[in-house]
Amino acid sequence: PHPAKKLSSTKSNLSNLKFVKSHIVNINLWPAGEATAQERLSSFLHSKARLYSESRNSPIIDGTSRISPYLALGILSPKRCILESLKLNNFEFTSGNKGICKWIDEIVWREFYRNIMHSFPKVSMNQPFQDYTKSIQWRYSSKEIEAFYAGKTGFPIVDAGIRQMLAEGWMHNRLRMVVAMFFTKNMLHDWRLGEAFFMENLLDGDFSSNNGGWQWSSSTGTDAAPYFRIFNPITQSKNFDADGLFIKKHIKELKDLDKKEIHDPSEKTRDQLNYPKQILDLKERFKIVSSIWYITNPISKFYYNFITFVYNFQIFGVYFVTRNRKFYGNKLVERSLLVTYAFPGVILLIPMYLMLGKMGLLNSYFALILINVTFSTPFAVWMLKAFFKTIPYDIEEAAMIDGASKMTILFKIIFPLALPGIARVSIFCFIISWTEYM
Ligand code: FAD
Repeated sequence: PHPAKKLSSTKSNLSNLKFVKSHIVNINLWPAGEATAQERLSSFLHSKARLYSESRNSPIIDGTSRISPYLALGILSPKRCILESLKLNNFEFTSGNKGICKWIDEIVWREFYRNIMHSFPKVSMNQPFQDYTKSIQWRYSSKEIEAFYAGKTGFPIVDAGIRQMLAEGWMHNRLRMVVAMFFTKNMLHDWRLGEAFFMENLLDGDFSSNNGGWQWSSSTGTDAAPYFRIFNPITQSKNFDADGLFIKKHIKELKDLDKKEIHDPSEKTRDQLNYPKQILDLKERFKIVSSIWYITNPISKFYYNFITFVYNFQIFGVYFVTRNRKFYGNKLVERSLLVTYAFPGVILLIPMYLMLGKMGLLNSYFALILINVTFSTPFAVWMLKAFFKTIPYDIEEAAMIDGASKMTILFKIIFPLALPGIARVSIFCFIISWTEYM
């Protein structure tokens, strides 16, 4: 239970505070004392650090230092971590051994979040870093929350992460991200509840790093990456625990499943093994989350308005060309339209549309943009075809007959049509490249 809820129902008398042990953390994993902490640091730097870049993302590999509790409690200093690393890396921060550089980066992340806490005190006052995200209406479902706290969401990788935390007082970084994303972007619950849950259960619970991690995951924080950065827990599971060994270690019910089924067991298997059904439908939630962010995010609003503007400008291009049809000829109009509208639409965007759909990424917001981009193309061509009869002469002939130079054709037809199209497609691709749905 949330300590705040317990406190509110008790008298403000310390003897009334009854701490109920809901689970036991394996404290042997974290021997106390400064000497142990330094030994752990030194042994990590001399053995695993060099492979850190490759091994840090797989939760079944013991590839990270596990020194966070010592840092969080002040038993070890970040300065010492950096100095010891530098000694092994010829005193280079950004060159030399890749693994050591990456590890130094992570210590710097810790310092970055400390700095945020110092420079923006609002983050330690229950406020998001991005003010506009205050208007998000988070859901609240006690049923979903209880399942989450118990590691019984029905998503094996999420449950394995939570159960690791309950057993060890520590969770692998990749899983902290997966779990926090799941809580905020799939369950659509307030990140502050998840943040508090982690603080209660992590031995390395550290206000600034935890707050930074949760705000990063819920896109309310400092990170420039946008609102629709979402992990798919099943894809993450396949990517980072391919054989399901981590899941098997922490979810005993699933220990006999093969690597195909372990990431998302069938209904029948779940029933047989007494493993819970999924508490939510990923696809349905993904649609909701993107609209929430679309409504609240100013960048997204700006982007949509800009697209609309560019689109209208393109319509103007069509209008301009069709008004001059006597001069250029309809065949040409048709061709220009096909090149500038249909080509990027059909060749580039429809396959992208299908691919995104297959990945389950397609949601109302993307669909809006894609439909706008793709279907306007054939539609515009079809409209023109219906209104004007084709006159059989090509660009060259049109130029000769009407005395127009190639430059005129270029400036009067291709540019007005192509530029907004290219701009729109590039912006779209740029936005897409921000998206992480892995
Ligand atoms: P290593 O990979 O060996 O990294 C070395 C050290 O660098 C860590 O001990 C830690 O001090 C620092 N570090 C690494 N990654 C990060 C990061 N992303 N942000 C800030 N510092 C980092 N870390 C905490 O110390 N306390 C927390 O309460 C905490 N909560 C988190 C909550 C969420 C939602 C997320 C996404 C991350 C959180 N982290 C937190 C950061 C990170 O997950 C842990 O620091 C890391 O997993 C600790 O394991 P390690 O010591 O083996 O790390």
